[in-house]
Amino acid sequence: MTITPLMPVYPRCGVRPVKGEHCHLVSEDGTRYLDFASGIAVNLLGHSHAGLIGAIQKQAATLMHVSNLYGSPQGEELAQRLVDATFADTVFFTNSGAEAVEAAIKTARAYHQVDGDTTRYELITFNNAFHGRTLATISASSQEKMHKGFAPLLPGFKYVEFNDLEGVKAAIGPHTAGFLVEPVQGEGGIRVGTEEFLKGLRQLADENDLMLVFDEVQTGVARTGTLYAYEQLGVVPDILATAKGIGGGFPLGACLATEKAARGMTFGTHGSTYGGNPLAMAAGNAVMDAVANEEFLAEVRAKGERLRARLEQFIGNYPELFEEVRGLGLMLGLKMKVEPRAFMVHLRDNHQLLTVAAGDNTLRVLPPLVIGDAEMDEFFEKLSAGAADFETGES
Ligand SMILES: *Cc1c(COP(=O)(O)O)cnc(C)c1O
Repeated sequence: MTITPLMPVYPRCGVRPVKGEHCHLVSEDGTRYLDFASGIAVNLLGHSHAGLIGAIQKQAATLMHVSNLYGSPQGEELAQRLVDATFADTVFFTNSGAEAVEAAIKTARAYHQVDGDTTRYELITFNNAFHGRTLATISASSQEKMHKGFAPLLPGFKYVEFNDLEGVKAAIGPHTAGFLVEPVQGEGGIRVGTEEFLKGLRQLADENDLMLVFDEVQTGVARTGTLYAYEQLGVVPDILATAKGIGGGFPLGACLATEKAARGMTFGTHGSTYGGNPLAMAAGNAVMDAVANEEFLAEVRAKGERLRARLEQFIGNYPELFEEVRGLGLMLGLKMKVEPRAFMVHLRDNHQLLTVAAGDNTLRVLPPLVIGDAEMDEFFEKLSAGAADFETGES
């Protein structure tokens, strides 16, 4: 037998973290890594946040799980906080981002179909989008590498170029139910949706009675410097999927919707065994305690501006390696002139700095939102050393 006990779908690297300390990871062999990957935009409070740990410990000892058949004081609290802090009137909790997007897709379809008309089911989605790995969410993505081996895909998705409003207009037809879009494409390479594009989608949705669905699984929960990215982009969606950072490391996601958009989501139409159980709600409430206030958000924006300014300055020293800095808040990307994976591996293995490669030749810089000046300085020491000996071919 040659297959590994862990199904070999990930090319796992040699770093084997066993402990987290604030913004660092410690591996099995004792090596310390500066974590500017954050479990891919998940560990927004770092790895040893006392408030989050305490809330999970306390809830675990009190009540971990009950069925959604029962009333949920913890879930009502978190849902109310999300409703108060966003455009939404109602929330469905899930265990992951893909499930949150699935719930969003179902909500958008049900909006049109609840009265029996089944002709409107198609969501227009965008090239290089990433929405998850379930069958519906890979079907919603144009990326062929995610489709191979899993045919047939789910019907009901049409792909258009990101930021191409004319393409969207041309793609709207009698079956169109809405648009599903990441306001900033994450896996696709930290590509920010233009104001013209996102406002155009809102206008098209209003004119044609379509659902505007934002996938904020990566951009959400203070990552971009506002609780959700839509707030600073001047466009309010009808439905929004959130996950990653919302549990601070505990598996949690949610589908947020307006009352109008959720008109089809009535008793018995959707469900989840674990979704929103008391343990998950304790984690989500602890994350909201930490991030959903103007002081924290203002700090994220300030740190984002500082990190970005220093990155801009830094890439000027290596014009043959880097093309530009892009992103919002602490969701930043370095667009490279070479394939970023080798550089990511070099930073990881030779300088103990963790980042994430993404599409469009982009290296993602996703620090915990709680970084301080010391971590930022350490990041630039490692990045500069890494660029210097990567360029010269040393190490
Ligand atoms: C990560 C991600 C998902 C999928 O989340 P999972 O928790 O892995 O299912 C969906 N959409 C976006 C934008 C993501 O970044």
